[in-house]
Amino acid sequence: MKTALFYSPKYLEHETGKHPEKPQRLAAAMSGIKESGVLSWGKVVLAEPRYASIEELELIHKRIYIEFVKRVCEAGGGLIHNETPVSKESFNVASLAAGGTIEAVNKVFLGIFRNAFVLARPPGHHAEPDRSMGFCIFNNAALAAKHLIDRRGVKRVLILDIDAHHGNGTQKVFYDTDRVLYISIHEDPTEFPKTGFIWEVGLEEGKGYTVNIPLPYGAGDPLYWKAFKRIVLPIIGQYKPEFILVSAGFDGYYMDAVSELSLSAYIYPRIFQSIINIAEKISSGRIVVVLEGGYNLRFMRKIVATTLSIMAGVNVSVRDKRPPINPWVEGMAEKIIEEVRRIQSRFWSL
Ligand SMILES: [Zn+2]
Repeated sequence: MKTALFYSPKYLEHETGKHPEKPQRLAAAMSGIKESGVLSWGKVVLAEPRYASIEELELIHKRIYIEFVKRVCEAGGGLIHNETPVSKESFNVASLAAGGTIEAVNKVFLGIFRNAFVLARPPGHHAEPDRSMGFCIFNNAALAAKHLIDRRGVKRVLILDIDAHHGNGTQKVFYDTDRVLYISIHEDPTEFPKTGFIWEVGLEEGKGYTVNIPLPYGAGDPLYWKAFKRIVLPIIGQYKPEFILVSAGFDGYYMDAVSELSLSAYIYPRIFQSIINIAEKISSGRIVVVLEGGYNLRFMRKIVATTLSIMAGVNVSVRDKRPPINPWVEGMAEKIIEEVRRIQSRFWSL
């Protein structure tokens, strides 16, 4: 079985003007993929995304919001939220991002592909049922998870969110259910999006199925990895998801202008390799990676190809500088990790 890369040039037609979430992000990622040769190794195939229907968007989003986005686009575009501009084609492009993600989980679920990377935009994890936020229009990962639950009868889906920002939209959708375990490691959310604090752990049936790890600005690779090893991996091992979705934002990179996690290129292969290993053991290898943020074009050129290679089972080496880490920040990150462990140990053995 092969790894699928879901991509369409149509994804470039969501025009945002002078904005970090611009079409060049995907163009850079695609040219990096072509340059790497990963498409010629016979292990990765290009797959065609399809549009999500209105009924599919309604798996999560309110009809009134869907129609609002459609109307603004039909009128030529504008702002649907203070940081989300749309153009004439944006509704269609966002539907193609959502539909591409649903199609990817479907085909991996059916065993047609080994796993899949959805190289789509706009991103999704800040989008809530009735509003856009943070460059996101429809919540691609959440829609795909809901599709697996409602239409495929999957009982346990993991959404692992490694974007530098908390996925407020995804958390909101699944806050009161145990059918989706939402784990997010992100930078201090006090400024944005103002959710994703340690004490947000879910409600009712969902208690313990939301795990937030808010690291301080400048946390860096070692503490990020520590949080991963001491919290994320043990909880996944106990939850035993049948399917894994990764909300893959690459904006934690130290050269990315929109966040401050100070991660280097070395951390990402490590994370993807460990998540693929755990998927092989407990989720029949079923894993779909969906692009979220990532705004440094040079890094996008490298890291998407690297991730795709790892998903196809090919070892790749990365080279990067290691940004300096302030020991005081490391100390603060250690304390936060211990605090998350203390709170989550009410639900998991840590
Ligand atoms: Zn982000």
